[in-house]
Amino acid sequence: MITDLNEVPRTAVTDRFHRPLKDLRISVTDRCNFRCGYCMPKDVFGKNHSFLSSNQLLGYEDIERLVRIFSKLGVRKIRLTGGEPLLRKDLEDLVSKIAGVAGIVDIALTTNASLLSHARAVSLYEAGVHRLNISLDALTPEIYEKINQVPAPLEDILDGIENALKVPYQAIKINMVVQKGVNECDILSMCERFRGTGAILRFIEFMDVGNHNRWNLDKVFTAKEMADVIHPVYPIEPIKANYRGEVSKRWKYLDGQGEVGIISSITQPFCGDCARARLSAKGEVYTCLFASAGYDLRPLLDSQLDDTEILQKLHHLWQDRKDRYSMDRLSQGDLKPLGRTSQKVEMSYIGG
Ligand code: SF4
Repeated sequence: MITDLNEVPRTAVTDRFHRPLKDLRISVTDRCNFRCGYCMPKDVFGKNHSFLSSNQLLGYEDIERLVRIFSKLGVRKIRLTGGEPLLRKDLEDLVSKIAGVAGIVDIALTTNASLLSHARAVSLYEAGVHRLNISLDALTPEIYEKINQVPAPLEDILDGIENALKVPYQAIKINMVVQKGVNECDILSMCERFRGTGAILRFIEFMDVGNHNRWNLDKVFTAKEMADVIHPVYPIEPIKANYRGEVSKRWKYLDGQGEVGIISSITQPFCGDCARARLSAKGEVYTCLFASAGYDLRPLLDSQLDDTEILQKLHHLWQDRKDRYSMDRLSQGDLKPLGRTSQKVEMSYIGG
């Protein structure tokens, strides 16, 4: 029996719907310095909310070990998320460890950029981060503050984005979650702000993630509505996906000012090619953003099991995977959240 991970041939494990495991999203903390209502509403994640303590967090050695194991199962892309990942100490050390794992070809990070100084943008890049996703949901200060519910100046985020644009990242994407009646009025000003800058603006349909964001269909500004707002002012046309399984539908500005993306989990789900697993900061693997339960790896990591034995458990976990929440939500016709007996995991706990 093979006991040395290096001897294990690299196999792209596939699930019940023949979807290969290719991407791993790693939440390095469940804490955030923002309280965006669609993710971490302030009245729920208030001062009495019990976040993970530091000794409950997976250590960087354990995360590196798991990345090595997952890379043997086909994972090639790692996305570091949170909560807000820049709150986790010495994150560059983790990035360097992951960058050293054979088979990992892409490291990305999702941040709200409030802590993204130029020096930090440089150190993350030098450690091995290739791509940044930055969340920004409005340019109107009142709307911006209404959404993230904390006194964080909009300028700080815009400075963070400028800092990132000065560093040669492969890609910088600006993610805006559009909520009907809240911020769709800022779609055009966001286009105007980021067209021609090299940053790719992406509009995201509001999703029923977690259990507390008071989601309902009336609050969804659909992908079609977004395109219908943009096109008359900044004519756009659809362009080919960069790769199979890309979540964002790409559109190019006809005047050559770059591209814009739309992520439509509600009206045009993309579960068919979903190749993503998620690792919580505590060490549980989730096979869907809308999952109710994760598979706890901590006992395995703390046990005498060797890497190949943990690999076999993850192999079975993915092979048994049949998650298609968004497709199932759409196919039931009324687009209501799927009736579940148990609570869904919170997005802030596993990263978007
Ligand atoms: S709903 Fe679940 S299965 Fe579908 S794309 Fe999202 S994470 Fe993947």
